[in-house]
Amino acid sequence: MARKTKIIATIGPSLNSKELVGEIIDAGANVLRLNFSHGTHEDHKKVVEWARSTNKKVAIMQDIQGPKIRTGELEQPIYLEKNKEIQLSNEIKSKDNETVLINYENLFKDIHEGERILIDDGKIVLRISKKTKTKFTSIIEVGGELRSNQGVAFPDSSLSLATLTDKDKNDIEFGNQLDVDFVAVSFVRDADDILNVKKLINPNTMVIAKIELKSAVKNLKSIIEESDGVMVARGDLGVQLPLERIPFIQKEILNESNLQGKITITATEMLTSMISSYRPTRAEVSDITNAILDGTDSVMLSAETSIGDNPILSVQAMANICEEVDETSNKNYLNKKDISVSNELTNSLSKAAVQVANDSNAKAIVAFTETGRTPILLSNHRPDAPIFTFTTIDKTYNQLNLLWGVEQVKINRLETTDEMFSIANKWLKDEMNFKKNDTVVIVAGTPPNKEAATNLIRVMKIGEF
Ligand code: PEP
Repeated sequence: MARKTKIIATIGPSLNSKELVGEIIDAGANVLRLNFSHGTHEDHKKVVEWARSTNKKVAIMQDIQGPKIRTGELEQPIYLEKNKEIQLSNEIKSKDNETVLINYENLFKDIHEGERILIDDGKIVLRISKKTKTKFTSIIEVGGELRSNQGVAFPDSSLSLATLTDKDKNDIEFGNQLDVDFVAVSFVRDADDILNVKKLINPNTMVIAKIELKSAVKNLKSIIEESDGVMVARGDLGVQLPLERIPFIQKEILNESNLQGKITITATEMLTSMISSYRPTRAEVSDITNAILDGTDSVMLSAETSIGDNPILSVQAMANICEEVDETSNKNYLNKKDISVSNELTNSLSKAAVQVANDSNAKAIVAFTETGRTPILLSNHRPDAPIFTFTTIDKTYNQLNLLWGVEQVKINRLETTDEMFSIANKWLKDEMNFKKNDTVVIVAGTPPNKEAATNLIRVMKIGEF
C-alpha cells in the first residue's frame, strides 16, 4: 500500500523543467501547489502541462495570493534600528529612505495609534506612536534590514479590504481554464469569503480555506462548514498570533475539520533547514510526525521545493517520515474522531464500515464514489486497512490525492451492483495480489449511475465473484 499521509510540493524556480516536475512526483509529491503570489500565468500553465503529460497520479492546487500588503520600493535596503523612530506613509512620491511606504490605500482609516505593524514575516516590528493626516510615526520595537516589497501584517488592526482582489479574480478565471483540482484561498476572514470564491470557480473544484488570520480562527467552524478542506497556514498565523499559540491552534483547526469530515493540510516551515541542507533537523522530524498524529491528511512543502537547493531530497525525507508514522501508529491523538456530521447517513455508513473492517481484520476497504465524500469520511475514521477508491470521474480521481490512507482507481461506467463487486475482486487480485478468501469491505451507493447516495456495506471474500 502506498504511503498514507499525502505530500504537497510547491512549484517554483527550483523545479523549473518537465524532468524535475516528473522527478518530484516520483519522489512522492501527490499534489503540486502553484503559488499565484509568484510567477506568470505562462509559468503556471507550463507546470500543469508538464505534470499532466507524465500521466502519473498527481493533483493541481492553485493558491491565490489574496490581499497581501507590501512595503514599497527602496533604492537600497535600509537598516531600522531598535527603539528609533521611522515615518510611514502610503503616498510617497519619491523613494526617500526616511519614510517607509506601505502600499495600502486605507492605511489611515484602518490603522491607529498603539497598533503594531509587522514586516517580512515579523522580522521587523513597528508600533504606531503618532498619527497625522498624511504620516504615521512609529517606534521600531524589533529592528532589522528592510528590503523592497516586503510583506506587511497588521495583527492588532481590523482591515477594510476585500479578501478577493482583482488579481485573484483574474487568476481564478485562469485556474478555471487550467481546470485545477483545488483552489486554496489566502487570508480568509469568514465563511462569506469562501462562498464568494465558490461562485467563481468551476463547479467540481474543491476549495481549501487557508487559516492564517485571527478572524479566521475566530470563525473557524463556519469557514470549515463552507469549505472542502483547510490549511493550517502557519507562516502567516505566526505573524498574526504569538508563535507559542501555533501548536494549539494547529490542533484546534485539525480537530474541527476532522469533526466536520473535511480535508486537512498542515503547512509551512516543515523542513526549512533542507532549503540548504541534505537532511532534516530532529525538531522538523518531530514536527511532521506530530502534525500527522494531530490528524492532518497531508503535509506541505513551500520554499523547500520552490526555491530550495534540495527539492527532491526534501520530498523524499518527508515521505520517509510519513512512512515511519504509517508503520508505527495508525492512531491520532486528537479527540476521538467521532465525526459530528452524524445526521449525514454517509457518515454513519462509513463509520460502520470502518468498524466492520477493523473487527474482521479486512485487508482493504473498497469505496465506490462520484463526489469523493464517502472516501473522505472513511479516511476520517482512520481505518486499519487501506481504502481503495474506485471512481469514473477524473476530477474526483485527482482530488483523492489529498486524502489520508486512500489510493484511487479510475474505472469505466458500470451498469450493475454485481459488476461493482466483480471489478473490485479482479483489481485486488490482479493489482494488489490479494488471495482467495481475503476479506474486503465494500462501501457503495447502488445501483451505479443513478446518483444513489451511499447505501451499501458488503463484506466480500476474494474469489466470491
Ligand atoms: C502560510 O502562510 O503558511 C502559507 C502557506 O501561505 P503563503 O505561503 O501563501 O504565504
